[in-house]
Amino acid sequence: MRRAPRPPRTLQGLGVSPGIAVGSALVLEIPRVSIFRVSVEAERVPHEISRLRRALALCKRQLLEARTKALQEAGEGYARVFDAQVMILDDSSLVRETTESIRRERVNAEWAVREVVERYLKVLSGTQESGVRERGGDVEDVHARIQQALSGGPRQNLSEAKEDMIIVSRVLSPSDLVLLNREHVIGLAIEEGGQTSHTAIIASALRVPAVVGLKGILSAVKTGEALILDGRRGTVHVEPSTELRESCLESARQAGVLEGRLLAERNLPAVTTDGVVISLLANLELPEEAEAATGSGAEGVGLYRSEFLFLHHSPDLPSEEDHRATYRSLAERMSPRPVVIRTLDLGGEKYFHRILEKEEGNPVMGLRAIRFCLRRTDIFRIQLRGFLRAAAEGGLSLMVPFITDREEILQAREILESCRRELLAEGLPAPDRVPMGAMIETPAAALVADLLAREVDFFSIGTNDLIQYSLAVDRGGVVGAARAAGIRVGLCGEMAADPLCAALLVGMGLRELSMKPSAIPEVKHLLRRVTSGELRALAREALALPGSREIEELLHRQLAERLAAGGACPVELA
Ligand code: PEP
Ligand code: MG
Repeated sequence: MRRAPRPPRTLQGLGVSPGIAVGSALVLEIPRVSIFRVSVEAERVPHEISRLRRALALCKRQLLEARTKALQEAGEGYARVFDAQVMILDDSSLVRETTESIRRERVNAEWAVREVVERYLKVLSGTQESGVRERGGDVEDVHARIQQALSGGPRQNLSEAKEDMIIVSRVLSPSDLVLLNREHVIGLAIEEGGQTSHTAIIASALRVPAVVGLKGILSAVKTGEALILDGRRGTVHVEPSTELRESCLESARQAGVLEGRLLAERNLPAVTTDGVVISLLANLELPEEAEAATGSGAEGVGLYRSEFLFLHHSPDLPSEEDHRATYRSLAERMSPRPVVIRTLDLGGEKYFHRILEKEEGNPVMGLRAIRFCLRRTDIFRIQLRGFLRAAAEGGLSLMVPFITDREEILQAREILESCRRELLAEGLPAPDRVPMGAMIETPAAALVADLLAREVDFFSIGTNDLIQYSLAVDRGGVVGAARAAGIRVGLCGEMAADPLCAALLVGMGLRELSMKPSAIPEVKHLLRRVTSGELRALAREALALPGSREIEELLHRQLAERLAAGGACPVELA
């Protein structure tokens, strides 16, 4: 008997890689291999140990294959994601403890691995530190892979996908993601994860439309059901109506045409029709994104978040050479465009590292970013020395996050200068002077912007944190303080990635905006179709309105017709 089709429904998650995918669902069953304790005879013990070794060798081959593919298709930064899993496999204590357990307990390899892995996971889950807890995900993935190899069964082979499918899964490991057949896997709908999860970063580098954080999608969707995934809006429509499907396909077609048009403008300046030039720069997390940035028309990197370098080396710390090589590579890939390296901003809700755990219970509000660096000058100096050596060849500026007080800038400058003298004394290269900027992302910094402006070469307003910590800060005050001191002021919060907000910010006086690379073409499109006077008037009008809804309405009313408005599915009314 045929099941009646289920009614259409829509799930909302977080769009992490733009694009519209229309296809059918492939719900991935995370394989649950049943693991039993089986006693083995003494003479079978060597056989169990060699089964274990063969399985580990197979897993390593699979992971290295995934690493090579990631390297070819997405670059070194993405390939490193696999290093963590290879490290777990190579961990001598995992092999030793498992082998010992097989010998001592006379049990099968499956049971011995499971016991050892469970002990590891228990230790990891006991920590409050999310960076370490996330390693539990890698350990689980490696465990599933080992069990699969021991069982002799194939891992669900995503490279064999034959028709256009949207993968629906609780999680999708970076290795699976890289190995999938991208000709046929056209979208990813993932139940867990956030903006900065490895899956999200790789999906966007591979340009596969993806939505993460889709709570309940596994129970809401069955394999074969029709899906429309909108990686920009973060929506997944299940069994959509014919009309919605047709209009989404039309939106996808228009988005393709529009992307071509926007990219044709990418090397034109972002200049308003009355001649005011705005610099559009990129926010990056990995040097490999440099090509995406220049491809989108970025005039430089306004924010390189060096935390990712720390995360890639976690649980160790990057060496001075790691810093130098990463910053140099970025400068060269972007050359002759300028690049701003932001010093370590571990902490906040996005980035954790075990080094924080020792220092601070609540790094979101407490010892994060510059505060942490001034406490752990040993770590800060390694970063600054690496930076200075890279900056000796030009193209780089330094930016310090989470400033709240002038004293922090003075101390950071002093340490920078001491590192510079130290390098020169060692016969190593260091520039005479590097531009140093401060992020204005705390209400405290915004309030003393005039004092800070005398100590730095530029400001960059970080609206992500500023909005988070206080909605009642007058950003116009920061711009005024910077102008009075004659320094540059830019903005690098995600707010700039929304064309309407970008226009409002230009109206408030900003002339430099840094954002994720994919947002640059649309922002440029709008700015090239307005006058600066019109935006100034709009900003004045907006500031007099009672709330954000009214401001949004005003911006839409005045600017909607000139927006590129690319590539999102129409919203279906319930
Ligand atoms: C900000 O706070 O606006 C910012 C750009 O920094 P991050 O998002 O890395 O905290
Ligand atoms: Mg910030």
